[in-house]
Amino acid sequence: MQEAAKTEAAKDLLATLVGFDTTSAKSNLDLIAFVQDYLHGLGVESTLVPSDDGKKACLFATIGDGEGGIGLSGHSDCVPVTGQKWTSDPFTLTERDGKLYGRGTCDMKGFIASVLASAPLFKATALKEPIHILISYDEEVGCAGVRPMIARIGADLPRPRIVIIGEPTSMQVIDGHKRIDVYRTTVTGKEAHSSLPSIGVNAISVAAKLIEEIDRLAVDMAEGENDPRFEPPYSTMSVGLIEGGTAPNIVPKNCEFRWQIRSLPSTPVDEAPSALMDFAERDLLPEMRKVASQATIETEGQTSVPAFAAPPQSEPVALAMALTGANRTSGVSYATEAGLFQQAGCPAVVCGPGDIAQAHAADEFVSVAQLEACLKFLADLAARLRS
Ligand SMILES: [Zn+2]
Repeated sequence: MQEAAKTEAAKDLLATLVGFDTTSAKSNLDLIAFVQDYLHGLGVESTLVPSDDGKKACLFATIGDGEGGIGLSGHSDCVPVTGQKWTSDPFTLTERDGKLYGRGTCDMKGFIASVLASAPLFKATALKEPIHILISYDEEVGCAGVRPMIARIGADLPRPRIVIIGEPTSMQVIDGHKRIDVYRTTVTGKEAHSSLPSIGVNAISVAAKLIEEIDRLAVDMAEGENDPRFEPPYSTMSVGLIEGGTAPNIVPKNCEFRWQIRSLPSTPVDEAPSALMDFAERDLLPEMRKVASQATIETEGQTSVPAFAAPPQSEPVALAMALTGANRTSGVSYATEAGLFQQAGCPAVVCGPGDIAQAHAADEFVSVAQLEACLKFLADLAARLRS
């Protein structure tokens, strides 16, 4: 057995990482520069994959030589603290009762801190295959940032044989997750003075009917599916954002809303949006066009994150089970970058410290015990890879 990296080292690194406000809307370059410097100090060079506007970057670093290897992957961005009531400053790591509080501690700077704290150990081990460190951005906004880095894997970046994504799973082994598709539906009606509503087409009222239909389709979906590996065991749909109208005395011409489907890996993708548009064509548009021939209802896909389903006898799943001692795997309803890696020919598994229940919430934390479990996992990984 290899001795794990010191908890204090991981805590110090976590404190530094939490201190960078890497809310998805902001730059992550300061955090990336810190990681690059830290690894450089260990004699490990990194490749950065900048975003188009140059305000963000992914980092890819390799410890050890040879083909293949194990990728340890985490996203550097976190969700906003806007509107949340925190007991202590979200960007100052604060320890209370064995819990480390701060934005991103659980999702997923705790994992990145554990990997960085273990890097000296990886460096000191004669590895028979390399360990790669992958850090992305914009995971919280449709897994956007990892895509340009994945596109370079196998070109000018090495292709890991296995990728472990350290999203918060309480160190359970996750071999499947749902898919996410986000849609925008736009209703264009006809404006009128509210004293004469019959000469207008009220876009908000039409949107309300469409939303009711989405809720009805969601019930159909829930009744038709049952995969107990997921909670809930069926695909879900919900509306998350709506905008429309100008004033109470104007029949509104425009209304748009955004909605999403989180589907089981086995669910066909386009069924719900096309059912919604059939409903629009059949039950709404004919009436609207009697008043305004230009009236339209349009739905367009905005972002989509593929589902993840590890194949049977998956090497990464077997490795994560061996390292955690788990004798079973589970599925989760949140999405990760695992599906994208898997699609790109890098077999993946999801396993990391912290509980998803604390992710995105006020007073987000990772427990010291979870951090230590992750450090042990990484030390055992290094021991397995010792030549
Ligand atoms: Zn995450």
